[in-house]
Amino acid sequence: MTEIRDTVILGSGCAGLTAAIYAARAGLKPLVLEGHEPGGQLSMTTLVENFPGWPEGIQGPELIDNMKKQAARFGATFETAHLNAAVLGARPIQLKTSTGEILTRTLIVASGASARWLGLPSEQSLIGHGVSSCATCDGFFFRGREIAVVGGGDSAMEEALFLTRFASKVTLLHRREGFRASKIMLERAAAHPKIALRPNTVVEEVLGVEEREVKGLRLKDVKTGELCELAVSGLFLGIGHEPNAKMFAGQIDVDAEGYIKTTGDVLTTLNGVVVPGVFACGDVQDRRYRQAITAAGSGCMAALEAEKFLEAQGY
Ligand code: NAP
Repeated sequence: MTEIRDTVILGSGCAGLTAAIYAARAGLKPLVLEGHEPGGQLSMTTLVENFPGWPEGIQGPELIDNMKKQAARFGATFETAHLNAAVLGARPIQLKTSTGEILTRTLIVASGASARWLGLPSEQSLIGHGVSSCATCDGFFFRGREIAVVGGGDSAMEEALFLTRFASKVTLLHRREGFRASKIMLERAAAHPKIALRPNTVVEEVLGVEEREVKGLRLKDVKTGELCELAVSGLFLGIGHEPNAKMFAGQIDVDAEGYIKTTGDVLTTLNGVVVPGVFACGDVQDRRYRQAITAAGSGCMAALEAEKFLEAQGY
């Protein structure tokens, strides 16, 4: 007979690992499923300077590794597996993964939101070396430097405005003439003396792969086809995030952009009614704060709720 677990945690970023620490300490022997982005977004950043308790900062991958060790010390186990399908309404909950079937009494969804990238190989190889999708995390490293932001929505405007605190100049590159951003955000960015808006422009290549740091961008004007180079030390992507919740379609309430809707902080719902035993935490349900510390906080809440749920069920 397949073992029925008390708690399975989907995702091994900051939210999932914090949930794992709390669930493990509560004796729930959580199984953490690590998907295609183990460690989540922190594992892709360099120095994290705003996580409380690290006065000198800590490297993102090291912080994640520490959390993982901490969870393992109390009995959490880890498996590399991709969740293909789930039956959240079943008792126990059924999970079909790339490695088999798992049955569990509670599920903590901490599958995060993945930043959208342009998908250029040069961009991918320079992530953490001048290419970033998080202005709050990495903006500080670009004091006095010229940088570029890609995107035409509110995130890009917000990133560009935030980055003016550090950068000497921010060039905002957008692939079309019209901007998607709200009028007020666009006006603020357009009026800022450090921001130059450059519509109808796409990034063809990030320069500096051999030097292991961003040296510039090769740009293309989509109207004229003209190519040119822009010397910048940083490239920030502000082209949105994709919450990783598609595998629960129809079984859990999500908002218009696919983020899981939660009530009471971490309880999930279907048509407004609480889905028993299924909790969501971290960026998959947070479109607003998206910080390591807020993800960790909600991971803690999810584990405490799972523990209470199991207790109420007599386990
Ligand atoms: P968004 O509104 O979907 O905008 C994404 C932008 O990135 C669009 O301009 C899009 O271009 C561009 N883009 C997408 N893929 C691209 C690619 N491969 N190459 C180049 N450009 C690409 O996403 P968002 O800005 O993250 O905003 C998401 C939601 O959060 C929105 O509802 C927004 O209002 C909200 N938000 C609000 C605030 C605020 O009010 N302070 C801040 C952040 C976000 P196209 O326009 O050509 O499609």
